[in-house]
Amino acid sequence: MTTLLEVQDLTKHYPVRQGLLLAKQVGTVRAVDGVSFRIERGETLAIVGESGCGKSTTARLVLRLIEPTAGTVRFDGQEVSGAALRTLRRRVQVVFQDPYASLNPRLRVADTIAEPMEVHGIGTPESRAARVKELLGLVGLAPFHAQRYPHEFSGGQRQRIGIARALSVQPELIICDEPVSALDVSIQAQVVNLLKHLQRRFGLSYLFIAHDLAVVHHMADRVAVMYLGQIVESAAKQAVFANPRHPYTRALLAAIPQPDPRRRGLVKPIGGDVPSPMNPPPGCRFHTRCPHARPRCKAEMPTLREIEPGHTVACHFAEVLPPHVAAAEDGIAPVAAQRLALYAAARARRMEGRERPEI
Ligand code: ADP
Repeated sequence: MTTLLEVQDLTKHYPVRQGLLLAKQVGTVRAVDGVSFRIERGETLAIVGESGCGKSTTARLVLRLIEPTAGTVRFDGQEVSGAALRTLRRRVQVVFQDPYASLNPRLRVADTIAEPMEVHGIGTPESRAARVKELLGLVGLAPFHAQRYPHEFSGGQRQRIGIARALSVQPELIICDEPVSALDVSIQAQVVNLLKHLQRRFGLSYLFIAHDLAVVHHMADRVAVMYLGQIVESAAKQAVFANPRHPYTRALLAAIPQPDPRRRGLVKPIGGDVPSPMNPPPGCRFHTRCPHARPRCKAEMPTLREIEPGHTVACHFAEVLPPHVAAAEDGIAPVAAQRLALYAAARARRMEGRERPEI
């Protein structure tokens, strides 16, 4: 495997200003605070965590939509800055959560999909039009859709348009920022399956940002868990779901709805709110909510360390925590299966012509 994206100590701090002309800096929002990860070619890394933990800021930093306070992003071995930015803009594309907000309502689908090709000077108007038709087919839409406007489509279809647009310039990495969170559960599975199909076909890498662990279970090869601007655990998907080592990861898994009533309540879901990233707690940022916190956790920030090959965790006591109650791993399979069943049923209805192809 070769590394496509390497992020080192990425940091974004926002000054908080007050007073006349906002002249006085009264604090700093530590939106992203020293995040490092890599993505191999053809791989999906999922970043998960509660709202406000810095997932979207990380995505924007990788895309260079915002400038980092510190840290580096290397794409295909080259540090991204200055001249390298233009190639990055083609080779890395993004699919946003809300396709309605990210599609220009006044542009026909054909123009929306062709726009990145135009921006990068790829092809002629004729070749772009042909490519738009091909792309519509790739994402499960029909050639006649090219002449329509975003409002004429359902949510799932609009997300397919967003994916076609991202694919138009043949990217190697697609950043998917909560790409299915705004969609119905049955439609989510279809879009997730489409993304997986496209990945196999074109060897794509994904940085997949999500708060829904059931979706992550479908999509990810590796998972990085973020809390208050930092990665607290990172490992292969199987290891994160079956053998989570950070109390926060365990708490997130415990929050997945348990279909089996005998399993409910085995692990207490996480209590309290995420503290403000303006004043993150000293020591381990999770200690204020951690059921296992000890005095050292208040005093000393744990670093991310490898406790098994490929499995890193930022917890002083990862080795001595009580064994993980495997309720979540048992619970997630039925949730995932339920979604796939909904998908299969919807497809069967379409095949029988009982239902207009919706998504
Ligand atoms: P997530 O995507 O995980 O929900 P975000 O990356 O959007 O989290 O935000 C992380 C933190 O940074 C939040 O507390 C958010 O309020 C703060 N933040 C994001 N953008 C800005 C900004 N432009 N100015 C100040 N604070 C910001």
